[in-house]
Amino acid sequence: MRDLIYAANWKMNHSLAESRAYAARFLSLTEPRTNRSLWFFPPSVSLVATVEAFEARADIRVGAQDVHWEPKGAFTGATSIPLAQGAGAVGALVGHSERRHVFGETDAETGRKVKALLAAGLTPLLCVGEKIDERDAGRTDAVVKRQLLAGLEGVTPADLARVIIAYEPVWAIGTGRNATPSDAAAVHLGIRVALKGLGAPGRIPILYGGSVNRGNVLALLAEPDLDGVLVGGASLDPEGWAEIVGIGAGD
Ligand code: PEP
Repeated sequence: MRDLIYAANWKMNHSLAESRAYAARFLSLTEPRTNRSLWFFPPSVSLVATVEAFEARADIRVGAQDVHWEPKGAFTGATSIPLAQGAGAVGALVGHSERRHVFGETDAETGRKVKALLAAGLTPLLCVGEKIDERDAGRTDAVVKRQLLAGLEGVTPADLARVIIAYEPVWAIGTGRNATPSDAAAVHLGIRVALKGLGAPGRIPILYGGSVNRGNVLALLAEPDLDGVLVGGASLDPEGWAEIVGIGAGD
């Protein structure tokens, strides 16, 4: 049985107090399971509270939603990797579609972030995915490959083993319209081939994200090329998320 990763992206939700309350409730509803690990990506101001709340659970990791590649400097509003690390983060999302398409993050910037995270010993969770016009034009594989190669440019094969990839079609994020399991699996396979071409040793986890919920998670995870899910909306309440992380993960 393959290992599965369930990652929760809280986006701009959950204050300090709400993060603590969420964690207490989630912990009361779940137990660690073999072959399953959990990630939470709270807003940066709630990182410390979330890290502390989940400290006793070795199966739970906490990361930042975004980081800057520079360790310090005049970058108002940004979170550096040392700052995130000091708050207890052990990884970060990179190139989430909202960073790319709302805030204008470029492919080259994602590459700098991935390399800086790896150099600091943190796990980058690199997000890639096409927009609807790109899918309709038959450019999904080309766009995903371009984002993947740019995000991983200059990363050594040994370091590739420390990266997690998330395929998140932009048109599926927060829309209630998920990719079909077979469409997602086809893209995952393309990503796997590209990773092999980069010299990746072994199996790099590739998650699917985009309107995952309790009704579709089992069918998605039934695809052997999906190693887990990255979830926004459906991870925001502890009861619903506790239910989802129990689906598809055997003991
Ligand atoms: C996300 O934020 O990465 C995401 C996939 O959101 P949602 O699950 O709400 O589509």
